[in-house]
Amino acid sequence: MKKRGMALILAAAVVLGGCSSGQKTSGEASVASSPASESSSVSESTAQSETEGTTEAVETTEASESQNKEPEVKADEEKEADVIIVGAGGAGLAAAIAAADEGAESVIIVEKLGKTGGSLNFTSGSMSGAETIIQELDGIEDTKESYIEDIMSNGAQKGDRELIEIFVDEDVDAIQWLWDHGLDQYTFLEQGGKKSVFAPEHQLYSIQRTYKPRAMDPSSYKSAVHEILDKELEGYDNISVDYYTEIIELAGNDKGQVLTAVGYNSDTGKTVAYRAGKGIVMATGGYSGNPKMMGEYAEYGDNYLVGGADSADGKGIRIMQNVGAAVDEEKLTYIPTFPMGLEYSEGKGAIGDVYMWKAGGIYVNQEGKRFINETLSEVVPRETALEEQTGAVQYNIFTDKIVEDLKAAGASGMWDRYYEPEDGMGHKLIQSADTLEELAGLIQVPADALVQTVEDYNAAVEAGETDEFGRDFSGTPTAYSVAVNKIEADKYYAVPIKALVVMTLGGVTVNSDMQVVDEGGNAIPGLYAAGEVVGGIWGRFVSGGTGVMGPVAFGRITGRNVVNMDLQEGQPVKAASFVLEESLFEREAEKTESYDMTGVKDGTYEATVDGQNGDMTVQVVVADGKISQVNVVSNQETENIAGPALEKVPVAIVEANSPDVDGVTGATLTSQRIREAVKQCLDQAK
Ligand SMILES: Cc1cc2nc3c(=O)[nH]c(=O)nc-3n(C[C@H](O)[C@H](O)[C@H](O)COP(=O)(O)OP(=O)(O)OC[C@H]3O[C@@H](n4cnc5c(N)ncnc54)[C@H](O)[C@@H]3O)c2cc1C
Repeated sequence: MKKRGMALILAAAVVLGGCSSGQKTSGEASVASSPASESSSVSESTAQSETEGTTEAVETTEASESQNKEPEVKADEEKEADVIIVGAGGAGLAAAIAAADEGAESVIIVEKLGKTGGSLNFTSGSMSGAETIIQELDGIEDTKESYIEDIMSNGAQKGDRELIEIFVDEDVDAIQWLWDHGLDQYTFLEQGGKKSVFAPEHQLYSIQRTYKPRAMDPSSYKSAVHEILDKELEGYDNISVDYYTEIIELAGNDKGQVLTAVGYNSDTGKTVAYRAGKGIVMATGGYSGNPKMMGEYAEYGDNYLVGGADSADGKGIRIMQNVGAAVDEEKLTYIPTFPMGLEYSEGKGAIGDVYMWKAGGIYVNQEGKRFINETLSEVVPRETALEEQTGAVQYNIFTDKIVEDLKAAGASGMWDRYYEPEDGMGHKLIQSADTLEELAGLIQVPADALVQTVEDYNAAVEAGETDEFGRDFSGTPTAYSVAVNKIEADKYYAVPIKALVVMTLGGVTVNSDMQVVDEGGNAIPGLYAAGEVVGGIWGRFVSGGTGVMGPVAFGRITGRNVVNMDLQEGQPVKAASFVLEESLFEREAEKTESYDMTGVKDGTYEATVDGQNGDMTVQVVVADGKISQVNVVSNQETENIAGPALEKVPVAIVEANSPDVDGVTGATLTSQRIREAVKQCLDQAK
């Protein structure tokens, strides 16, 4: 109900086009008379709706008409700042800090969730960089040129060399900045006593240039980068963050500048018109949380597991297209997958391979056949091979002996964490059987094919030769092969692993100043973009650690540019010829049937459901036939992500006297679990 109401408010509230200017044409935003206000402090004014008579927003505009007239937008509130940043992920936070350091007197970050970090809330945050302070301390000689070539090569030579060169230069300074602001105090995952490591989960770099610092406060943060940026942000009283506010529209003025963004605050139910004096930075992230968009643009995208945040919905791209931003449609198809997706909830995945193939296991597809050298060190061929299999699923087949050998080699981290413990999020995915035929039935692959595959594999192991896929059975240990084993035992196991997406590589086109450009290649004055929302930088596949450092480095550049660059005049603002279909952003309607409260008896009830990292127990108190209290007694959700749902959903359920309330964006799974547990409590109460 709340959602429907919101949609109506948004449709009614955003009125672009000036009655006064009368110059709005189809797809063209209304006009203003002069550059935006040079206001230097964060200011607010509350407006009434136009139907009530006066709009303070309009009055404000008229009062200052001689110096400034931005497009009229009908909104409940009006706020101004030198720089408006949309999105508080790595790119947005870095841009805000850089803009403030560069002299912006006021910066507002507009964030649709109730927290900072965006995708950084999901990742431990591997970072990469060449010629860095960390390599210097480790005594590793690297060059920027080598880093550039590695990124170009990893991206199948489809990246933008100029932007990559800019990134590689800035990346050194960004890492130095992080180091000087606390990174030097962090504990890093080390290899051979060095903090500079190879990252085998990605296509390998030619030298150790990935860094894996662990968050100091793991209950609140997953990555050091997020922790440091958040801590730094606290020190700036000229940067404010407007949470729970989603930018839904940008508007251009008659000078072709885009300096107005309209947002909707889901907490207050109010619309806000944000006016930027110098520019707007869109840092809204990619579309790894939008299965429809991946299905539309990737050949096998319908089968991908969603590993990104729900907030990574790609809408920011469309919002910019509506004011003319160019998007290369081909590059929207650049969606890298990880061949290591653990499906912890339907369609949702985490990075979590069992890695049993390292000790002798194999992968078979839904047809029961092997299709790749499982121990191949390059990730890209394994990635593309998995995508092409039926359902983009591979079953890791293994035995107890293989588990023992993996453990003995110290390579069972994922298994120990996610699969072996009964409350591990992958435990329920393990299938076991006394025979291969029985196992085949459990995972629905043809039994004769699986038996034949295992026989052929065992014969290759026995022969000790390299097989048809190039897998070597000589027994020489490598990072990808710690033991050689046949698949024969009293008990057989299978775990499904799927193609997982955690980031996307398509988005809006920018120039080397990070200005968003239109389809003619002209900069749209006032409009900048940074982070995953920018398309075409990296090429077809991802280079490890650039997902985190790309947004931070480009965020810093953008923050400086938006302050320093002159605000030019541009082409009339109008929508691009290619705009993403609106239907790609419509969420499937949530189940609407409402819980029947008839016959619910007073009392206190408790139910336990499967949670993110373990059980969640919820208590419900029913008094006078109504839900009077909902308490989440215990949970193992990731605090930083689940926090808003744990706080808001119980309150909403009590208010609605029903478990059928909206979930909290960004924490939909936690919301769902709370609702499910409450329903179970109410079932007991009948
Ligand atoms: C599980 C996982 C693991 C990863 N591991 C790594 C890794 O180890 N190393 C690596 O380099 N990369 C990794 N990545 C990728 C990397 O984390 C992201 O590419 C990066 O954090 C993106 O930063 P960003 O600031 O561009 O976007 P985001 O982090 O997505 O931030 C965008 C922000 O904008 C907000 N927003 C969106 N639209 C609006 C709007 N209209 N109005 C207001 N706010 C809006 C969102 O809520 C969000 O807070 C991983 C990603 C995931 C999901």
